[in-house]
Amino acid sequence: MFDGNGQYEPEDMLYLTQLDDLNLLMIEQPFRTDDFYYHHQLKKQTITPISLDETIKSGHDAFQAIELEACDHINVKLGRVGGYQEALQIHRFAKVANMPLWCGGMLETGIGRAHNVALASLEQFTLPGDLSESSRYWEEDIIEKPFTVKDGKVSVPSKPGIGVAVNEKLLNKRTIREFTHTF
Ligand SMILES: [Mg+2]
Repeated sequence: MFDGNGQYEPEDMLYLTQLDDLNLLMIEQPFRTDDFYYHHQLKKQTITPISLDETIKSGHDAFQAIELEACDHINVKLGRVGGYQEALQIHRFAKVANMPLWCGGMLETGIGRAHNVALASLEQFTLPGDLSESSRYWEEDIIEKPFTVKDGKVSVPSKPGIGVAVNEKLLNKRTIREFTHTF
């Protein structure tokens, strides 16, 4: 697979179709972040599945992408779509359309990673996600039990909520400043 990060132009369409020879898992987000049209055009011309990342900012965007046949998969990032409500709506649309999803991520602490792992445990998430172990990015993660990968898999915590506890001692050690927000 490769990620275009929205850097290709419509004139690159022919070049992108030639990547079919590489038998890729997907081409992710080749065109600009607000585009549905050219992704649809490319999807019609390639065998390689098209995955959308930055274009999908909400459940409604996912609905449009599915209905307009602008992609074969969606990369769901909780932060990008605005949280669980939208992510779950994307999941519902994808389920109806039988569209595979995958969970994007990278530099999260254990807290963000726990959210991603929970999301990626939903049934429509059938493609491998960006769910590395804590040690790939962190010398010390701020959760009690850092995530590990075994045989390419991450275990889903079974405790309530996000299933992980914050390592308060380590968090305090790393704290630069504090503020209190009152509602
Ligand atoms: Mg991407």
